[in-house]
Amino acid sequence: MLTVHQFPCLSDNYGYLLHDTDSHETIAIDTPDAAEYLRQADLKGWRITQIWNTHWHPDHAGGNEAIKAATGCSITGPAEIEGKFPIDRIVSHGDTALIGGEAAQVVDVSGHTNGHIAYHLPQAGLAFVGDAVFALGCGRMFEGQPKQFWDSLSRIKAWPPETLLYCAHEYTASNARFALHADPDNAALQAYSDEIAAKRAKGEWTVPTTLKRELATNPFLRADDPALMAKWGGSAPYETFAALRAAKDNF
Ligand SMILES: [Zn+2]
Repeated sequence: MLTVHQFPCLSDNYGYLLHDTDSHETIAIDTPDAAEYLRQADLKGWRITQIWNTHWHPDHAGGNEAIKAATGCSITGPAEIEGKFPIDRIVSHGDTALIGGEAAQVVDVSGHTNGHIAYHLPQAGLAFVGDAVFALGCGRMFEGQPKQFWDSLSRIKAWPPETLLYCAHEYTASNARFALHADPDNAALQAYSDEIAAKRAKGEWTVPTTLKRELATNPFLRADDPALMAKWGGSAPYETFAALRAAKDNF
């Protein structure tokens, strides 16, 4: 059985250790902070056997070398990591990564970076999405193009709605402020936003979220909604997405 151990690290990242109780494998999902990952694995009595990277940014792959040196684990990730941080196996869209008897589907979710991938575990009903999508937001478009990013989000939108999305940052409160500006008449968003404010006031996490909830409230996943297209312009959803992304960058 798979279990996810979540913990905050750096200033606003979440660390994730994915553990299989049958095979005793433990996957470090990204490596923002090697020392904290090793400490958390120790606390759980787990040994990190693999790293799965989502993209090349240092707060996602910067701990690869130290964790590999401490554990001898193998590292899987997208080609963009090569030459920046250690990697053993390069994967791309359509590949799988294994934990015990379960396969994670590697999905191209590029746009934040050009090689960004997600790991979708359909049997377990969860996905590690890195900085591609956040609760009520999405990653900044540092390297990609709007059409590319929208196509990536469309792949995420096609997963079962119950899927738990494990995003890499706690950005939800500030994302909610923009979402309400982008889509002020959305009643589900208003309710979600109130819930987020209450949770954050108590210091609680808003991640993971569910795809179902994001489909109803996240403006970046809703760039194909007729009301949002009318409000933000664009004759194709990716153009509306581009307008929303640009507005958020300057919000
Ligand atoms: Zn990033």
